[in-house]
Amino acid sequence: MATGESSRREGSLEAPTRHPLDWRSPDFYNKDSLFHELERVYDICHGCRRCVSLCNSFPVLFDLVDESPTMEVDGIKKDDYWKVVDQCYLCDLCYMTKCPYVPPHEWNVDFPHLMLRAKAVKFKDGEVSLRDKVLTSTDAVGKLASIPVVVQAVNAANNSKPLRQVMEKVIGIHADAPLPRFESNTARKRLEHAPAAPARAEPTAETTGKVAVFLTCYGNRNAPAVVEDMVAVFRHNDIEVRITGSEVCCGMPKLELGDLETVAKHREANVAALLPLVEQGYDLIAPIPSCVLMFKQELPLMFPEDERLAKIKRAFFDPFEYLMLRHKAGKLRTDFNEAIGKVAHHVPCHQRVQNIGLKTKEVLELAPDTSVTSIERCSGHDGTYAVKAENYAFAKKICKPVVNRIAEGGFDHYLSDCPMAGELIEQGVATSEATSAFTLLRQAYGI
Ligand code: SF4
Ligand code: SF4
Repeated sequence: MATGESSRREGSLEAPTRHPLDWRSPDFYNKDSLFHELERVYDICHGCRRCVSLCNSFPVLFDLVDESPTMEVDGIKKDDYWKVVDQCYLCDLCYMTKCPYVPPHEWNVDFPHLMLRAKAVKFKDGEVSLRDKVLTSTDAVGKLASIPVVVQAVNAANNSKPLRQVMEKVIGIHADAPLPRFESNTARKRLEHAPAAPARAEPTAETTGKVAVFLTCYGNRNAPAVVEDMVAVFRHNDIEVRITGSEVCCGMPKLELGDLETVAKHREANVAALLPLVEQGYDLIAPIPSCVLMFKQELPLMFPEDERLAKIKRAFFDPFEYLMLRHKAGKLRTDFNEAIGKVAHHVPCHQRVQNIGLKTKEVLELAPDTSVTSIERCSGHDGTYAVKAENYAFAKKICKPVVNRIAEGGFDHYLSDCPMAGELIEQGVATSEATSAFTLLRQAYGI
């Protein structure tokens, strides 16, 4: 390894410090500077190799090193650096769960944000396919695909093997990858005219007892029934629930593409929709962990000076984190009507890195005769990663340990807190369908 001597202290006793993403500095997009940093960090990773089992980025890197003429990072062709970048889906696990060299360690390794910088450089150079631009335009695609009549055609096409094979050849979406079903009766349509529950919940030290739901693209157009179940559970606990007046995509798919200017545009639209609600005393929740993480972490790291965003971040909660905070204050109903039973619970990476603990498990286990086994492994779905023709086989491989754990049996239900991950897991399990924690909780309450 070129960096540092072996006697240096590994890791830190201090909590990791996440530096803001310096994406507006001219150096961020400077290719020489990027490659210099990639070489430095790849070299540290080569000497460490702890992350080899997390995703496909690290095995690709280590294979490149081991097959290079020098068997060191300096033997890798610079063009091959992108192969590592292309396998990263920004799950953040290497930073949050494995790396001893994150700041304040002097080596200052932030592998996910370095990958993000490389993706941003690539995007700025125009080296992004039309497929990837379309796949990450969740708002535009969803709006079109959920129009009545169009919706049936899209769902039929997504389920047609011959058409899927054509799609794989023409646009590179793998013929076997699970694609979400679109619904024309969106969550917004289902909930916007529903009478608001009377505001009976008392505030606690950490929650106001009234929430606005950021529906998310997926929750709104692909999983409206899950959103309805979530809202029913909150209202059953006397929490006033409303949906946001308007919203656009949180920006996570565009972040994963490196399209930071579009992320910035989405931020403006969402701040305009969310800040007034926070100022009226609403806490915020969303049914998809990646979208929650966007507001809790990624946007504040991109715009550390934005006080409006800081207020939104403080008000944003994972829904089960919220319910557990209410329970801690004695404000959650535990008068369940029925048991849930044995549940296998997949914890998505973007929920794990929120550092909130296993809140879904804790809430479900409030129901009688219920035990939850949480599986903290990546599902491999990761936004748009699994549906791309070149990645699908890797995604299935990453998902296998999760599927195997569920297939060992002994569970009455299985679920992921990310419904998209749930679809890939379900494909692996094959014999039964994934459910949602909100659906199980609603059934247990008998509502
Ligand atoms: S952020 Fe996730 S996908 Fe990217 S390198 Fe780290 S562990 Fe792998
Ligand atoms: S990201 Fe950190 S823990 Fe992972 S291989 Fe690199 S140096 Fe090691």
